[in-house]
Amino acid sequence: MEVRSHEDEALGCAAYSPRSQIRARMWTFDPNERVDAGFIERRVAAACAAREALRDDDHTAARLVHAESDGLPGVIADRYGDTVVVQLSSAGAEAWRDAIVTALARQPDVACLYERSDAEVRALEGLEARTGVLRGHVPRPLLIREGGLVHQVDIVGGQKTGFYLDQRDNRARVRAHSRGRRVLNAFCYTGGFTLAALAGGAGSVLSIDSAGDALAMARDNVAANPALDASRAEWREADVFTDLRRLRNEGARFDLIVLDPPKFAPTAAHAARAARAYKDINLLALKLLERDGLLATFSCSGGISIDLFQKIVAGAALDADADASILARLGASADHPVALAFPEGEYLKGLWLRKA
Ligand code: SAH
Repeated sequence: MEVRSHEDEALGCAAYSPRSQIRARMWTFDPNERVDAGFIERRVAAACAAREALRDDDHTAARLVHAESDGLPGVIADRYGDTVVVQLSSAGAEAWRDAIVTALARQPDVACLYERSDAEVRALEGLEARTGVLRGHVPRPLLIREGGLVHQVDIVGGQKTGFYLDQRDNRARVRAHSRGRRVLNAFCYTGGFTLAALAGGAGSVLSIDSAGDALAMARDNVAANPALDASRAEWREADVFTDLRRLRNEGARFDLIVLDPPKFAPTAAHAARAARAYKDINLLALKLLERDGLLATFSCSGGISIDLFQKIVAGAALDADADASILARLGASADHPVALAFPEGEYLKGLWLRKA
């Protein structure tokens, strides 16, 4: 539908969603642009083309469409080799489902298209969950390469669309700093940072997650890379909050720690409770870290700004009686761009710290 200002000036065209708190999502800010199947096709093709530069034999997975930041609100598409997973999460995206699916299927090297429209936000738009094959067959196992390392991805039952593509650059950073270090990977999921640390020559890697199936896949992922020394990897199915305390009580020490927890604050309404959770794990991690040790700490909570996150971590350092400095600010990889008109798209924030 057309959007007009209070002065009746044409502003563009938006998808209207009466049941959602976000009533209108802009498709275009050009009042003369028509939103039709051709429009969807052009936007999808432009987004996919922009990712081609990120694809090579050692990097076979990337986000192809990153919703608002690619001019396609509510549309996510992730490439895993020649399989593409699409996730529609807004009423507008749902209305153009056929055009989106057709456009994605037309992109180069797409043999299988799978739908994972089961994100919780769909309920806020009054949409039912929908998953299943749209084109082709899902390869089993579905293998990708990141930094030359093989990962198995479960697009049917895994978290998000199966893999945390947004952490690609940060896994490369951890890999570059792992040599000889005792690494702790908290919230390891299918072992993305674990494989990176092992490939970087870590002395040992302890990986913790509460999801047994994710841990099982993480172990398989290490085994799928014969160049990695699996005997340096230790796994623990546990609650990170409890297990960090156990490690502290045992006097364990690490030289590099990754904290990549789930979204504690999906919206600002959860910020206070989330802040306590972030502070707790960062405090414990800073205690477990050796002098000159490195900490990669993340928040993917939309409800926590980078400024607030930095304050929380600073508070944690104070209470841990630790001094640390920021070596770099981290974010999502280049296939997750942030449109200037949509700063909310910058959901992943991280700090790369060195303990004094
Ligand atoms: N770093 C990972 C992604 C982490 S996603 C990667 O690069 O692939 C967050 C993970 O935290 C999920 O696997 C989830 O199972 C796990 N998790 C959530 N709450 C937890 C808790 N309290 N203790 C341990 N693991 C938890």
